[in-house]
Amino acid sequence: MRLRNKPWAEDFINAHPEIVIPNPEEIKGKWNVEFKNDYPLHIEVGSGKGQFVTGMAKQNPEINYIGIELYDSVIVSALENAIAAQPLPNLRLLKVNGSDLAKYFEKNDVDRVYLNFSDPWPKTRHAKRRLTHAEFLELYKSILVDHAEIHFKTDNRGLFEYSLTSMSAFGMLIKDVSLDLHVNMPEDNIMTEYEEKFSAKGQPIYRVEAKYV
Ligand code: SAM
Repeated sequence: MRLRNKPWAEDFINAHPEIVIPNPEEIKGKWNVEFKNDYPLHIEVGSGKGQFVTGMAKQNPEINYIGIELYDSVIVSALENAIAAQPLPNLRLLKVNGSDLAKYFEKNDVDRVYLNFSDPWPKTRHAKRRLTHAEFLELYKSILVDHAEIHFKTDNRGLFEYSLTSMSAFGMLIKDVSLDLHVNMPEDNIMTEYEEKFSAKGQPIYRVEAKYV
């Protein structure tokens, strides 16, 4: 993701604490109170400009969604998307590092993790940064309900193969694999920004659903 300097982003984010939660560590274990309901909670780690998580929140009003993104300059676009889509009471954003998820969620807080077009980190010495590395799978497990699923989409064949191996070695059940999602595009597929960009170039989109057993 190309980062643009947006000096106004921080103030804009701070002006919308109802969407970009300022102190998420205080809500750990109480997300149902924040959302004022007991709907399932699905999170997307690395949500970028938020097209997916906003679209999912619109499509599924009885599921709560949180988009998690590291950078001000990127999450500010997700915030603009979320504001444009209001009212959307089932969507929040967190400007935090996915490696710190355990600070904000406890076991059973989360029902599903989405990973979309995660940074591939192709160098072996950076493998631990891949969001499907065993340490991340362990981290997700520590905040998810038992037998939860990770849904992962990518254009990157190398990262996809790595992720299938990593999930399988972790003991997860590989449920549903697509090597070209758009050939028989599921009706409810919400495209991410990267998915639109890569599929427009004719590149196949890989997808897997993997379940903790
Ligand atoms: N999911 C979006 C999509 O499909 O269009 C964005 C994909 S972009 C390649 C990856 C995004 O993940 C970037 O916005 C990046 O800042 C974010 N990201 C990478 N590592 C992260 C981490 N550890 N925690 C939170 N966000 C992260």
